[in-house]
Amino acid sequence: MNLYHVCKRELWLHANGIRFEHTSDLVYEGKLIHEESYPQRSEKYEEVEIDGIKVDFYEAKNRVIHEIKKSNKVEKAHEWQLKYYIYVFEQNGIDGVTGLLEYPTLRKTQKVLLSNIEREIIREMEIDIKRIIDNDKCPPVVKKTICKSCSYFEFCYVEDNLI
Ligand code: SF4
Repeated sequence: MNLYHVCKRELWLHANGIRFEHTSDLVYEGKLIHEESYPQRSEKYEEVEIDGIKVDFYEAKNRVIHEIKKSNKVEKAHEWQLKYYIYVFEQNGIDGVTGLLEYPTLRKTQKVLLSNIEREIIREMEIDIKRIIDNDKCPPVVKKTICKSCSYFEFCYVEDNLI
């Protein structure tokens, strides 16, 4: 869901097993922020894995999903990712869940809720995501500012890219 909003090409590459994240400094930094900002978190919160999503910090008592981002700006993709988590929880019978986006580097938090209209939008997004990842052809490169920090940058911008 996050990649659907960030870049359709990245979504396709990731879903079709072409991954370079393990070499990405950004992923490493992200993990470091998790560990350094919230060293006590693993004891206080639960890790939940359902229907293909993995929530690192679920506060079961208050039904809050905490999502921590290293980004230095609040992005729509982050909100939709968290709304999707809430949606998946609901689909599995866990109602009344809310989300909290946390930006340690910005010292900012943002509450995230899911409306009826957004539930419908998510259902439409799921159909579109399936259409994209099932397609034999990888979506073309669309130049964006985030490309430079993307783990696929070299792959996308080499001259004779085969995909
Ligand atoms: S480098 Fe740019 S076009 Fe290529 S996958 Fe990343 S964000 Fe998408």
